[in-house]
Amino acid sequence: MSEIQQQIDRILARVHDGGRITYDEGTLLYKHADLLDLAEAANARRFQLNPQPFVTYLVDRNINYTNYCITDCQFCNFYALPGDNKKGYVNSKETLGKKIEEALALGATRILMQGGHHPDLPLEYYTDLVGWIHQTYPTIEINAFSPSEIQHISNVSGQSWHSVLSALKAVGLQGLPGGGGEILDDEVRKRVSPKKIMTNDWFGVMKVAHELGLTTTATMVIGFREELRHRMNHLQRLRDEQDDSLARFGSGFNAFISWTVQIENTPLARSRFAQEYGATSTEYLRHTAIARIFLDNLPHISASWPTQGAKVGQVALHFGCDDFGSTMIEENVVSAAGAITGAMPAMEPREIHRQIRAAGFIPVQRNTDYQHLCVYEDPAADEALPSLADIRERAAAQAKALAAAQKIANVTLLN
Ligand code: SF4
Repeated sequence: MSEIQQQIDRILARVHDGGRITYDEGTLLYKHADLLDLAEAANARRFQLNPQPFVTYLVDRNINYTNYCITDCQFCNFYALPGDNKKGYVNSKETLGKKIEEALALGATRILMQGGHHPDLPLEYYTDLVGWIHQTYPTIEINAFSPSEIQHISNVSGQSWHSVLSALKAVGLQGLPGGGGEILDDEVRKRVSPKKIMTNDWFGVMKVAHELGLTTTATMVIGFREELRHRMNHLQRLRDEQDDSLARFGSGFNAFISWTVQIENTPLARSRFAQEYGATSTEYLRHTAIARIFLDNLPHISASWPTQGAKVGQVALHFGCDDFGSTMIEENVVSAAGAITGAMPAMEPREIHRQIRAAGFIPVQRNTDYQHLCVYEDPAADEALPSLADIRERAAAQAKALAAAQKIANVTLLN
């Protein structure tokens, strides 16, 4: 057996015993370990942290309040420049409310609300919006504004991250999505999104969120022509920050999710290096396993079926993932660059159950904090879940009821 293989075996044995691995050991595994050995070790880590054979999922809707943005990320096809009134929008409360009501009718427990970096909207716009949603729909959890949006709001309003986040929390914000992480290494960020938040600030905003007790997740996108050291730098920084937040505040990121960059219709697709962007499914699975092994202080890892497809998402459940993400009722950012999502649930709960069970696990509906809302031990229970046709019917009935209610309200106002 080669010297390298002996080293790999020693490192993987430590993982199976619950031990931590170093940056150099992670790099060695990334480069040389057999893919299935990595899967086995990642699964060992997964069961050390989540011993039950459950795979969780969330019913939620992604909502965008605006797509105006001044940040020009090279991998984005979602945004419109200020002045582009054909593509650009700022959604009204009425439009957002309708989307939330549709989501509630489909059984959603959370909205994930994000937008572009609008040059003019003041802090009051965001606090008014979150406060209105919280007052009007008190049962829905509100996760909104990734660290880059918080930094932008802070810049526009001239207030600190702490003030901005405290004000949003006071009106009902429950947590921050980990979006905008991409590769958290400034060498890569300066190349693909030079105007967007840099690494120290991304973690700085999240630190304040942890201090305030807001729920957070961490994301990572691979395939920007980054080197292995950039990926390992991202993972190392994330683990260090998590150690620090847990020690100081007793809470930190509750999950990690990675996916491969989607570049369709983006400036990256038109660059001379277009063929070199992106990553294969095998690379995604290797990365997922390494992340699960290395991030021993993050409780949950989600599979990314919207970018990888359901089958690879299912395989990822054997590479250390204990969560299948969400139904994704509407997603407009990654799908604008080629992912598989749309205005209806991209995957209905019944299909999520089927994928999870076929992989050998028990499906569990969760909330944002990963608390279990319903454990579906019995496969017969899946029959009672709404099909896509049921969901469409329910959404149409909801829309009709809403239109009727609005008509009555208008008549009352006229009178
Ligand atoms: S990724 Fe976000 S910040 Fe970057 S251009 Fe798109 S909307 Fe703007």
